[in-house]
Amino acid sequence: MFKKYIIWDREELGITNNTLDNSQIQYRCERLHNLCNSATKLYYPIDFKQIPENGIYIMFQENEQAHGDERIVRVGSHTGQNQLQSRIEGHYIKENKNRSILRKNIGRCFLKMRNDKYLAIWEQKGSSNKQINYEKELEKEISEYIRSNFHICIIKTDYKKETRMELESKIIATISLCNSCKPSERWLGLFSPIVKIKDSGLWQVQWLYKKNLILTDIDLEFIEQNLLFIKE
Ligand SMILES: [Zn+2]
Repeated sequence: MFKKYIIWDREELGITNNTLDNSQIQYRCERLHNLCNSATKLYYPIDFKQIPENGIYIMFQENEQAHGDERIVRVGSHTGQNQLQSRIEGHYIKENKNRSILRKNIGRCFLKMRNDKYLAIWEQKGSSNKQINYEKELEKEISEYIRSNFHICIIKTDYKKETRMELESKIIATISLCNSCKPSERWLGLFSPIVKIKDSGLWQVQWLYKKNLILTDIDLEFIEQNLLFIKE
């Protein structure tokens, strides 16, 4: 039932999608938001056993709105097969910024917000100037922030990396090009030293503004059919 994705053939995709105007992009983004907001949203503490082995997670963040509902602020997947659960655990549970780019990015914002010079050390993996206790404190603060501010919904996919990658990249491209999706004035990401995050309003740096990767009707249908609904 999973269609074969052809993300890597960008030129071919570009021919069909470059003709989309802003209102069409906005319409698709709105449909994406309507669909994802209707799925089961998982809040911390999350029962990780409910999460399928393969798929994509969509993140919402407190006080962020778009299209009359919660704004999607991040889309992510996993590289290795059957790793979706542990990927999400990496954001919420395992206190190690080097295993979660979201954790690293939240930490960057905290440090930047406070003009903390430790930012330079936070950027490096295994720096000799690393202050273990200080990082532990930071990691704890990041956990608290993520647990109380982020919640997710899931789109199930097959086991193929290409399926996840294509869907993830198209969702990111579509939201980044949508005129209705803007961060609130108090969005934490506005403190990010990463310009792409600050400008896009998304916790992402890849696949932004790719006009040849706008979600198609087939993609949106796929999303509708594979969003995770958990019965109470
Ligand atoms: Zn939008």
